[in-house]
Amino acid sequence: LHLDHCSNVGFLQECIMAGYKSVMIDASLEDYEDNIKITQEVVKFAKKYNVSVEAELGRVGGVEDDRVVDEKDAYLTDPAMALEFVEKTGVDSLAVAIGTAHGVYEFEPELDFNRLAKMDEIIDIPLVLHGASGVSEKDIQKAVSLGICKINISTELKIPFSREIKKYFDENPMASDPRKYFTPAKDVVKSIVIDKIKICRSNNKA
Ligand SMILES: [Zn+2]
Repeated sequence: LHLDHCSNVGFLQECIMAGYKSVMIDASLEDYEDNIKITQEVVKFAKKYNVSVEAELGRVGGVEDDRVVDEKDAYLTDPAMALEFVEKTGVDSLAVAIGTAHGVYEFEPELDFNRLAKMDEIIDIPLVLHGASGVSEKDIQKAVSLGICKINISTELKIPFSREIKKYFDENPMASDPRKYFTPAKDVVKSIVIDKIKICRSNNKA
């Protein structure tokens, strides 16, 4: 079980004690030094429980839950800072900002692969790509070839999931059995996930 984008250290610690095996401390809205300090604190705590920690450096734009980053406040990860960040915090994986955003794209994003290649060259830990909904198959595969080991896709699942539930209720306005009205929604998400696993060439690797 993985806890995504958490900026509350107390809550994160509760989740770790409750049995999460992997957590993301997202202090990317703080300044660089504070991001390091907060991430260090979480890593120190998580190590005691053998829990792996993902952090974020740079700032992925867009909207995810209550986290809203305006386009003008988003910025890409600096490779030298990323190396220093990884060394100072001892984090297990790092989410990097290379041009994706959370949520729905108006235009297909242009990813900064040179930046990613540079980070892959100097950083030993797995790199993570957030905001991958709407990124083309070709770009996802290129990102994987340049060191991305985990890809977060949410919007591309949430929209069809909700669409199927709405459709079900349009056709069956009196429905009340979640085992029935969730089924087409779960099926559509399942088929997209299977497709994404294949695009990332992650099949048979778990
Ligand atoms: Zn994310």
